[in-house]
Amino acid sequence: MTETVLPASVASVFEEVIRRNPGEGEFHQAVREVLESLGPVVAKHPEYADAEVIRRLCEPERQVIFRVPWTDDAGRVQLNRGFRVEFNSALGPYKGGLRFHPSVYLGIVKFLGFEQIFKNSLTGLPIGGAKGGSDFDPKGRSDAEVMRFCQSFMIELYRHLGEHTDVPAGDIGVGTREIGYLFGQYKRITNRFESGVLTGKGLTWGGSQVRTEATGYGAVFFVDEILRTAGESFEGRRAIVSGSGNVAIYAIEKIHELGGRVVACSDSNGYIVDEAGIDLDLLKDIKDVRRGRISEYAAQRPGAVSVPGGVIWDVPTDIALPCATQNELGENGAAALIRGGCRVVAEGANMPTTPGAVRALRAAGVRFAPGKAVNAGGVATSALEMQQNASRDSWSFEYTEQRLAEIVRSIHDRCLETAESYGAPGDYVAGANIAGFTRVADAMLAQGVV
Ligand code: NDP
Repeated sequence: MTETVLPASVASVFEEVIRRNPGEGEFHQAVREVLESLGPVVAKHPEYADAEVIRRLCEPERQVIFRVPWTDDAGRVQLNRGFRVEFNSALGPYKGGLRFHPSVYLGIVKFLGFEQIFKNSLTGLPIGGAKGGSDFDPKGRSDAEVMRFCQSFMIELYRHLGEHTDVPAGDIGVGTREIGYLFGQYKRITNRFESGVLTGKGLTWGGSQVRTEATGYGAVFFVDEILRTAGESFEGRRAIVSGSGNVAIYAIEKIHELGGRVVACSDSNGYIVDEAGIDLDLLKDIKDVRRGRISEYAAQRPGAVSVPGGVIWDVPTDIALPCATQNELGENGAAALIRGGCRVVAEGANMPTTPGAVRALRAAGVRFAPGKAVNAGGVATSALEMQQNASRDSWSFEYTEQRLAEIVRSIHDRCLETAESYGAPGDYVAGANIAGFTRVADAMLAQGVV
């Protein structure tokens, strides 16, 4: 489908972004997606243009790239590259996860950091936007190798962190194991037990209840609100969830709790279908405990089918949650979802739907909600972890989950109200972009040219 034309008021900003950041396609895509929504905002608020707020927002405050040498189990020296892009601190300390995946390069980290600014703003909590990571591939590495890599990564990164400065968390390839190694090394270097410097910690050493579940649960709470707005619910609905990592697993868990049935999930090698509904204990055992492949699920579960190399969007469904990675749902996938009767697509991952697929889904009347709103429950719960660390407190699972649900509901409502007030009723993309942008932009205006 043809590309949307950018409003003239922001087109020159986009040209500048392309010129200053060559070869960073994912970053260009993320910037364009936000700029497409900002025409009416600039028309209503010329002060943002006068102070060059949008241009400044598109330029990270700080970018750090560093060498990460480490030794593998055979004694060979290995080399990776580390990144931290501290994008915007208008609303609070930099906050955003670390991704360890071989595809990581500056353009991926910048797209994720840019998205994070608006997502964090939408939560209403005092957190700025950042992202980091490395092209290190944890797959097939022993715990000792992962530990040595994390220690080497932190030896450089620590000087940029601090509970009031920059607070990383997990993302693809970074879970509780990696956060543990990173925290241990930070503590050793600084001789400080500074709980608030990383989130996603273990429960006995400063972690928060519900942080592990938060992104997946939050995404499902968001979909529940979309359904509720239309007088519907999860009860009796079919769903498919791509990926089988942290976000996917807890999205599946919450959909089942709310009465829906998830019939398919995937990894980078293919997908499985289980018409009886995904057996979560088995999935967690394969992916979380044994770090295995999704195809093993079908081998162990009667009635389930594995489709190696297949595309999950071919499975007929009412609701789809892409929860794996960027640009995993393209125009062919969107066409398959529409054919299969899908009525709601909500992004659990960051930017999993290509612009052409978004246009196709919306043209077909599918309700579409973007990742920066749908998956914001994860970072919101990280901010709740920071609050607990600051007050040396720890809250119960029930209380924390209730706080998460309230935050997600308020993000949902803020998106709809903002979309309505800018003449785009029901448009979650415009609502999320504009509501996320205006809070940051107002803070930047108040803080002067910095
Ligand atoms: P995990 O590493 O736990 O899981 C990632 C899943 O996605 C795995 O099943 C992985 O399969 C699959 N995947 C990764 N890369 C690809 C690829 N190139 N093609 C197909 N499948 C792929 O990561 P998370 O669950 O934490 O993150 C998933 C998404 O959610 C990401 O976009 C992340 O940025 C976003 N997100 C995560 C948050 C969090 O709190 N963890 C917060 C907000 C957003 P395989 O094992 O085969 O690689």
